[in-house]
Amino acid sequence: MNKPPATIPASTFSQQAGPAVSGEDPDVYRTLLESTRAIPWRIDWATMRFTYIGPQIEQLLGWSPSSWLSVHDWADRIHEEDRQKTVDFCVAQSQRGVDHEADYRALTADGEQVWIRDVVHVVRKPDGSVEALVGFMFDITERKLAEDKILQLQRELEVLSYRDSLTGVANRRMFDALYAVEWARAREQGKPLSLAMIDIDYFKQYNDHYGHVQGDECLRRVAQALAAGAAQPGNLCARFGGEEFVLLLPDTGAEAARGIAERCQKLLKHEAIPHAGSGVGRVVTASMGVGTIIPGEADLPGVFLDRIDRRLYQAKSAGRNRICDIEP
Ligand code: GH3
Ligand code: MG
Ligand code: MG
Repeated sequence: MNKPPATIPASTFSQQAGPAVSGEDPDVYRTLLESTRAIPWRIDWATMRFTYIGPQIEQLLGWSPSSWLSVHDWADRIHEEDRQKTVDFCVAQSQRGVDHEADYRALTADGEQVWIRDVVHVVRKPDGSVEALVGFMFDITERKLAEDKILQLQRELEVLSYRDSLTGVANRRMFDALYAVEWARAREQGKPLSLAMIDIDYFKQYNDHYGHVQGDECLRRVAQALAAGAAQPGNLCARFGGEEFVLLLPDTGAEAARGIAERCQKLLKHEAIPHAGSGVGRVVTASMGVGTIIPGEADLPGVFLDRIDRRLYQAKSAGRNRICDIEP
């Protein structure tokens, strides 16, 4: 077995020796290198064997310096999922004589993982051929964990920024974004697109009678009933604002849209949220404007939305707690 030398061969670093520190004093370099957190190493290119690895490696990964004999030991101690691509990349770069960096998960002696950034420098002979690889291994586990955490937070934020925080259904921003997409798709494919605008009846009186906290709870229950009523792949239930909601129903014809609106009314009725101040009954009700379009070149999404809003207004003025799906 080839034991790695205890000191760094002078040839490794002697080129970097400046005038202040003698190149014949490798102890100075060794002390410096072995007291940093970065772990230095050297691999002889001809034999592919380690001629040096910093003793700090044992503290980081648990493998003693003398157990690092050849590049195989290095490759074997890379996490399975990272191994092939890391080895392929480093070998290819080294063969081309290009300095490089690789991030990978190294395996510790007791089966844990440590994220390593290996920074590799190719040392050449005077004739230009590769003599050795020297590098530093950095423990970047904490940085990677922080990056993962940031990614996770970004994903959560993305989800949250499209969700209405009070009711848990999609928010207006989500509706606006999806409405534009579905509009374009319906126009392109010549498919029907339906909308339902929903407004809770006498909700001001509800708040006045039960208070705002209970009002919030009522909004949540209405939202859940509407979401359940519209629950079909592709459909969206969003809070449009205040006590108004909107259902976006792609690939849905007029009859199916009316069916969904009726199902929502029924589910709301089943919720049976008491409403002592309602002008149309004893429980919370809602009015709805519903409509369908196969968007043509001349149609505009905002104009269609206004039309549905007018139908909602019509449902209100016709007595509330009803669906209007015809032109007022
Ligand atoms: P209509 O039947 O004509 O729709 O009457 P309405 O009382 O429901 O309508 P109006 O627009 O007069 O009142 C809407 C009320 O909704 C007023 C407002 O305080 C309440 N509201 C809007 N957003 C919220 C909210 O987030 N929480 C609570 N608790 N109330 C809200
Ligand atoms: Mg309203
Ligand atoms: Mg209302």
